[in-house]
Amino acid sequence: MKYDLIIIGAGPGGCMAARKAARDGLNVLIIEKLKEAGKVTRFCSRLLRLGDGAFSSDKPITDVNIHRATCTIEVGAPGKHIVRLHEFPEDASFSYAGELDPCFNETWVSPGGAQFDRQTTHRTIDGFVVDKEIMLQGLLRDAEEAGCKIQAGTKCLEIEDSGDGVRLKVKTSAGEETLLAKRAIVADGSFSSLAKQLGFNEGRGDGPGKLRFMSFILDRCELPFREMRRARFTQPSVHKGYLNIGPWPPGLWEISCSAPVASPVRLPQVLQEFLTNSAFSYLFEGATIVDRQGCSMDLRPPVRDAARGNVICIGDNLAYAETAIKGAFGCGYKAAEASAQALDGKDGNDFYNQYWTHAFNFFSPQYNKRSKRLPPIPVVLNDEETDTLFGWFASHGICGMPADILPGNQEELMADLPEIARKVFGEKKIRGDEELDGEEAA
Ligand SMILES: Cc1cc2nc3c(=O)[nH]c(=O)nc-3n(C[C@H](O)[C@H](O)[C@H](O)COP(=O)(O)OP(=O)(O)OC[C@H]3O[C@@H](n4cnc5c(N)ncnc54)[C@H](O)[C@@H]3O)c2cc1C
Repeated sequence: MKYDLIIIGAGPGGCMAARKAARDGLNVLIIEKLKEAGKVTRFCSRLLRLGDGAFSSDKPITDVNIHRATCTIEVGAPGKHIVRLHEFPEDASFSYAGELDPCFNETWVSPGGAQFDRQTTHRTIDGFVVDKEIMLQGLLRDAEEAGCKIQAGTKCLEIEDSGDGVRLKVKTSAGEETLLAKRAIVADGSFSSLAKQLGFNEGRGDGPGKLRFMSFILDRCELPFREMRRARFTQPSVHKGYLNIGPWPPGLWEISCSAPVASPVRLPQVLQEFLTNSAFSYLFEGATIVDRQGCSMDLRPPVRDAARGNVICIGDNLAYAETAIKGAFGCGYKAAEASAQALDGKDGNDFYNQYWTHAFNFFSPQYNKRSKRLPPIPVVLNDEETDTLFGWFASHGICGMPADILPGNQEELMADLPEIARKVFGEKKIRGDEELDGEEAA
C-alpha cells in the first residue's frame, strides 16, 4: 500500500498535519514511536502564550519580515474551548476539552522577595497552560474521523527519499517492516535522527551547546501572588539559573530548572534544595512530588530549507524549543497544505519554506543578538545583589524580560548600581537596541 502521505511523530506538529491532510482528502498514515499516540513524555511547560512575545525578548523585530506563529483561545464552558491559529483559515481552529489555567503575568522573584514583572499589569492574560495530552488526543480524534490511519508503537528507523516517493523502515512489536508513501512529513521533534539521515543537518553548524531540563510535578504549592502566573524564582546560592514554576493542569504544579549539559550540576538535587532548603521552601510545605520529567535541548541554529524533495521536516527537528506548541501547530497545518499542493504538481516546498522562514523569531539575526547579549542574572550576581537589582527594577516601575530591560537601562544602572552593573554588563558597554538595529540595517 502506498500512502499519499506518512507523518512521523504525533506531537503538536504531526497531529495538526494529520488532521489537516486527512480533512483535505489525502490518504494519510501517522506513526508514533510511543505505545500510545498523543502521550507526552518529553518535558514541556505547556504554556500557550498569546501574542507574539518570544522566549527571551519581547522587543519588536524589524530586520526580517516575521509573522510569528501564534494563537488565540476562545474560552468556553468547562471542557469546551476553541484554539485558533492567528492569521490561519477557520479549519485550523480546533476544540480543546481540557483545563485552561490562565497566567496573568510572568514574575521574577529574588531570595528577599523583591519582584519585577514581564507585563505592566496583572489584569491581562498572558497565556494559558494546557493539558497537552488532551489537546493532542483531540486533534488525533479529528484526524481519525477524517480517515487518517494512526499507528502507535511504531518507530521509524530509516527514511529514504528516492525521488518518486519515500520509503520508511519501521519497527513495531511484531518486527520490522517497510512503509511507502508519495510524500512524508517528519515531525519527530528535537535530536531528529531522520532529519540527519536525509541530509537536512548538513552545514547547519553547532550552536552554543546543549541544555538539560528537569521538572518535578507537585500536587500542592502556594504561590505568593493573588493572580495565577508563571514565576522565575532566583537564588544564585542554590542554583546559577532560574527555578521556573507554573500551573500544570489538571490542578497540579510544575517546577523546573536547567543547566548546560557539560556542567556537573545535578538538577534533581537543585530542585530538592529549592523545595526543602531555600528562601522559597515555605511555598512548598506539604507538597508532594507526583512525577518527574526531563529533556535536553540543543541550541543549534535553525535550517532554512525545511521542505526538500518529497519530505518536509516540521517543528522542533530543524530548530529547537522556540517553535513552541503553537508554532508546531502552524508548521503541521502548512506542511499538510504544502504536501497536497506538491501532490497536485505545484511547488509545495517553496510554499512551506516561505511560511517557515517567516514564522519564527529565530530567523531574525536581530532577535538572536538581543537574546545573547548578556549572561543570565543568577550566573553573575549573588543573592544580595539579586535582591538589590530586582528591588531597583520594582522601585523604578520597570517591567520586561531581562534581555530587554537590562540593556535598556544600562546607563541608569551604571550610575545607580555600578558594582552590579559591572557584573551584569562586563567591562565594556554592551550594544543597545539602536546600535544592533543600525547594524542590521547597514
Ligand atoms: C524545557 C522546555 C519547555 C518548553 N515549554 C514550552 C511551553 O511552555 N510552551 C510551548 O508552547 N512550548 C514549550 N516547549 C516547546 C514545545 O515542547 C515544542 O516546541 C513542541 O512540542 C514541538 O512539537 P513537535 O511536534 O515539533 O515535536 P514533539 O512535541 O517533540 O513531538 C515529536 C513526536 O515524535 C515522536 N517520535 C520521535 N521520533 C520518532 C520516530 N523515529 N518514529 C516515530 N515517532 C517518533 C515522539 O515520540 C513525539 O511524540 C518547551 C520545550 C522545552 C524543551
